[in-house]
Amino acid sequence: MNQTLERLIKLQEIDARLLEIREHMGDLPGTVESQESEISTLQSDNTEKQERITLLEKDIRHHEAEIDDFSTKLGKYKEQLFLVTSNKEYEALNQEIDHMKAAISESESVQLAFEEEKTGLEETIKLNSGKIETIMESLTGNKAELEEALAETVQEQEELEKSKNSLEDGIESNYLNAYQRIASTRDGVGMESIIGQACGGCFSQLPPQTVIEIKQNNQIITCPGCGILLFWDGAED
Ligand SMILES: [Zn+2]
Repeated sequence: MNQTLERLIKLQEIDARLLEIREHMGDLPGTVESQESEISTLQSDNTEKQERITLLEKDIRHHEAEIDDFSTKLGKYKEQLFLVTSNKEYEALNQEIDHMKAAISESESVQLAFEEEKTGLEETIKLNSGKIETIMESLTGNKAELEEALAETVQEQEELEKSKNSLEDGIESNYLNAYQRIASTRDGVGMESIIGQACGGCFSQLPPQTVIEIKQNNQIITCPGCGILLFWDGAED
């Protein structure tokens, strides 16, 4: 048999097995990755919101102290009202009282807005935490499953990759390029056995002369339909 063809057939066997292994893992690696990134997004959102809450609490305390202070002053002004002796003094004091009342009311509405923002943030954090918990539960299961699947195949996979590399070194580059080009569009396998008289890649019927040549297994023939490299695995139709 043509040596390049022989190596390509072996390469194809390895790639088919690697594909099987990947399919055995299914969506697990992708799922685990996206769940991990989802959790980390939610966690950093919570951290950001918690930092904002800390600032808000400081502001709220500041306004509380301010309101206390203003209220004390207001109380004093009100007491002084009984002690004034002139209308002018009375008016001036009343102005101070109005001014203080306005300041208190402004401070209260700022404080209220901060409280509302804080409540909203706390609700989001609670929602996020619930989501994190749910995803975490599913992630734990998926990770265990993935680890199990990996443990089964990791050694085989490494050996396959090693054989694949040394095989590839022994294949003429024009054939290897053709194989890899097709492989890249077909889940990683660039060669198929004919099935009866048909291409194993696109299942189109091949000319009888081509089938005879392929069955001789001594030259590299591509499918006129899909361009995949063809060989014969020896199975009669
Ligand atoms: Zn084909």
